[in-house]
Amino acid sequence: MDLQQKPHVVMVPYPAMGHCIPSLDLVKLLASHSLTVTYVTTHTIAQRLKGPVDEARKAAGLDIHLVGLCPPKGIEGLPEGRESMDLVSSKYSLDIISLVESLEQPFDGWFQQQGSRRPVCIISDMFIDWTVRSSERHNIPRVVFYAMGAFPTSIFHAVCSSISTNTLRKEGDSVIVDNIPSSPLTFTKDQIPARYFNPDSADPMLKFVTGKMQSITKCWGVLVNTFDDLETRYLQHLKNTISGRPLWSVGPVLPSEGSSHTRGKMADISEEKLLQWLDSQSPSSVLYVSFGSQAFLSQEQTKALARGLEASDQAFIWSIKISPETAPIALNMEDSHAAYLPEGFMERTKGLIIWGWAPQLLILSHPSVSGFLSHCGWNSVLESIMMGVPLVTWPMFSDQHFNSKLVTEELGIGVQFCQHMDEVPNEEKVEMAVRLVMGSEQGKQMRKRAQELKELAKQSVGGGGSSASNLQAFACEIHKLMNCNPQNRNDNGDSVSG
Ligand code: UDP
Repeated sequence: MDLQQKPHVVMVPYPAMGHCIPSLDLVKLLASHSLTVTYVTTHTIAQRLKGPVDEARKAAGLDIHLVGLCPPKGIEGLPEGRESMDLVSSKYSLDIISLVESLEQPFDGWFQQQGSRRPVCIISDMFIDWTVRSSERHNIPRVVFYAMGAFPTSIFHAVCSSISTNTLRKEGDSVIVDNIPSSPLTFTKDQIPARYFNPDSADPMLKFVTGKMQSITKCWGVLVNTFDDLETRYLQHLKNTISGRPLWSVGPVLPSEGSSHTRGKMADISEEKLLQWLDSQSPSSVLYVSFGSQAFLSQEQTKALARGLEASDQAFIWSIKISPETAPIALNMEDSHAAYLPEGFMERTKGLIIWGWAPQLLILSHPSVSGFLSHCGWNSVLESIMMGVPLVTWPMFSDQHFNSKLVTEELGIGVQFCQHMDEVPNEEKVEMAVRLVMGSEQGKQMRKRAQELKELAKQSVGGGGSSASNLQAFACEIHKLMNCNPQNRNDNGDSVSG
């Protein structure tokens, strides 16, 4: 089909792997519904994603385009070439926010050059709010993509609304979140940071979160990376929050079986070596350990976790990522790696370590893997559910605390042993949690429940399933926009023609 005949949609993801990966998965799904999709990101991420995007174009014939933007003046403080959250430590979070803000103008420049290829809709990450202004300037609808689940998003919404009315409840050391299904929900004060208790705070991180939460309702509709059977009550709650706008739950937006295992970055282990090791293990015997793309454990934390794993006597495959600011100054790779593990650890244990990026989906889908020790990033939770694997959780920051609560208390598919980015895990707690999930009767029940959720997840994305139907319905709406004169839309992007 001629490019000009297809509606053109532009996707703007937040520059972090936990947002870029599902956004690209979603782009591929949309392109398979006869849409042209352009993925606009930082030039660093665009360079990295060129391979997977070229492959999707060539192998699957998808009409996907990649655009890498540079901030007009660079970002003071952010090292060049590191325009992605996984390439810097958390101390650069505010610089990444400045980077995102600086892309509004280059984005508009790109938009104006599109001529007859003009996009009919912007799909914006929930953390990017200048797309509200862009959509108004270009008079096209803005759709928000939640790379988070309905449960954590509902909690963020409730917390942010209570800040503006100064009604966030504290009881002793607990924070009580009201006004969502299953509330009152109790959190510890450090799971909901202190800055949330001061509505006048000039704290830039608080401004960021509250600003984004306000902007997510300034949209034509919402896409959520979850599925109806997983978060029924919370999806309904979100629908009420966005009052009347359409909400399409389209997840898990994972790549289809048989597609490339390169997601986000090239893996730091060959597929051959990995599969050889996994194939040599007994079925359902291996624990996968990984903390996503942004959490870099210290040597002390890594050693404590290692000692707990050793005590559990469990076979494991562990992706260890060294902080990007530490890695370059290491004398050599071997010395730097050795400093993270107790002496003789590898000789005494039944494990495989991947120093760097792991092909996570390939690992989780292998029959020998039956547990995931995770930080509970939303994608990791969804991927574990999609593979029917229960979790051992160590949430570190942000929505991860809420996701862990969902996993352990609502869904009953995991147990938590530690929390916070800077806590050193207790070795005995690691051992007990791993033994519980991997070897106990309670663990068996968790696995059974995870397998049930896996079936529901598969049904939702399969033919006629809720997510597949919602995606189809969303694509239909986009096709309708093609024939709709932009002047016939009101401020929310709703078509007001008959
Ligand atoms: N991921 C991966 N290999 C790694 C680490 C992460 O493929 O070594 C992928 C993982 O499968 C998921 C994403 O990166 O899709 C991480 O997102 P998540 O929400 O779990 O965590 P975040 O990185 O945002 O903290």
